[in-house]
Amino acid sequence: MAAALTLEHWQARKATLDYRTQAFIDGRFVPARSGKTFDCVSPIDGSVLAQVAEGDAADIDLAVKSARRAFEAGSWSRLAPAKRKRVLLKWVALLRAHADELALLETLDVGKPIRDTTGVDLPVTLNCLQWYAEAIDKVYDEIAPTGPDQLGLITREPVGVVGAVVPWNFPLLMSSWKLGPALAAGNSVVLKPAEQSPLTALRIAELAVEAGLPDGVFNVVPGFGETAGAALGLHMDVDALTFTGSTQVGKYFLEYAGRSNMKAVSLECGGKSPHIIMADCPDLDLAAKKAAFAIFYNQGEVCTAGSRLLVDASIKEAFLERLMAVAQRLRPGNPLDPKTAMGAMVDRGQMDRVLGYIEAGKAEGATLRMGGTRAHEASGGYYIEPTVFDNVDPKARIAQEEIFGPVLSTISFTDEDDAIRIGNDTIYGLAAAVWTRDINKALKTAKALRAGLVWVNGWDEDDITAPFGGFKQSGFGRDRSLHAIAKYTQLKTTWITIR
Ligand code: NAD
Repeated sequence: MAAALTLEHWQARKATLDYRTQAFIDGRFVPARSGKTFDCVSPIDGSVLAQVAEGDAADIDLAVKSARRAFEAGSWSRLAPAKRKRVLLKWVALLRAHADELALLETLDVGKPIRDTTGVDLPVTLNCLQWYAEAIDKVYDEIAPTGPDQLGLITREPVGVVGAVVPWNFPLLMSSWKLGPALAAGNSVVLKPAEQSPLTALRIAELAVEAGLPDGVFNVVPGFGETAGAALGLHMDVDALTFTGSTQVGKYFLEYAGRSNMKAVSLECGGKSPHIIMADCPDLDLAAKKAAFAIFYNQGEVCTAGSRLLVDASIKEAFLERLMAVAQRLRPGNPLDPKTAMGAMVDRGQMDRVLGYIEAGKAEGATLRMGGTRAHEASGGYYIEPTVFDNVDPKARIAQEEIFGPVLSTISFTDEDDAIRIGNDTIYGLAAAVWTRDINKALKTAKALRAGLVWVNGWDEDDITAPFGGFKQSGFGRDRSLHAIAKYTQLKTTWITIR
């Protein structure tokens, strides 16, 4: 992929884009049954990119019926895993051939820097889809260790129709974490992208059919959460629902399952992750760089954002100075400029929400050390300066609630137990990190932190081979790694009596 292209290149390329704007059901683009559309707005400058079909319960029902038909027909669900692999790898090759187009669509749709969509979102998405395609014909079933007169076959079967509801912060990447294992395992999928970010999902579905995925195996219904999202959660013929998004909406999906057909729900939800810097941190400069990255990458719109910085009181000032020096270089800019490291907030609503939290932080008595304001207002886009609060009360809203923006809350502690106690004092449990030279302190803290991901002397090390997901109200079920396949399959035990 051409990472070093210029702002002018991407602006010119934008003019040539052909947006897919209708729902993708049963292998083709169709308007919403209601005929309704909604504005797809670019947060770069507030302009309307396209009018996108506003799917609701009727469209979800059509998509689920198509997915069910495809599943029952068996042309995908009963295909040998090695053959599914071949189709999926062809899809990955097509996506790779369109990687620049997809990266540009993503940048325009959600305002993240083109440098990140070309350098991170696309490569990581492609790697994920390729990894599951390559894995699926290496997954074996089991035979139970019973006596000689019985054969207990333990086989994994695809669950059937999978509903996937995803957020806007990494639209392609979050979708790939669901699509990779769900499709490889032989399911049919109905994907509901976030209303802020429908464009790439529609394009990759079209390319999947071009690669040979049978019609109906992968459908995309754009629309709003309260209508299309709820209809998928409540549908009586969806077997499993995989969700990434806020904790509040995750709870709705549990309710929807209870009110409908008890579909299996898995949830990847919010976070308020502690980044703990002990006094014996082995490298303050590196830790400060990572801590800045942990909260400002992707404009802070990251579920694992290190939004609570817990620093030993004895080194707090030295650490904050280093961190703010890094943040100074991360000023928001035009996301289409390859030099830009920080882009726009996804929409006006999210920008206002984050600015509201900044006001709440000030009102609650925290010290604003940098940022705190909107940037580039004249552009019409939604930009916020990297913001650092110090002296934050661990019980304050900005220390407890997920802001999902470039706002760091600094809290100091006096010893290890204090750090662990404050670190765990949240409803969330997605990620955490601890920096120390002492292996005992590192292991004790890592074990005591109630989080699905813990980094020691690092932040955001990750790989498709390792599971990703949270404790507590950050959700349950894991994306990535072979463990994710469990969400999209069910175990069947077949007893064979040997006579
Ligand atoms: P959101 O919960 O508002 O929306 C997520 C999805 O749910 C969207 O597709 C939306 O349309 C849909 N939705 C919204 N309301 C709904 C309803 N009433 N019924 C059914 N569906 C509904 O989240 P968001 O603002 O798009 O994304 C930000 C959130 O996602 C943050 O909380 C973030 O932490 C979380 N997230 C978590 C992970 C993870 O892996 N744990 C990854 C990325 C984002």
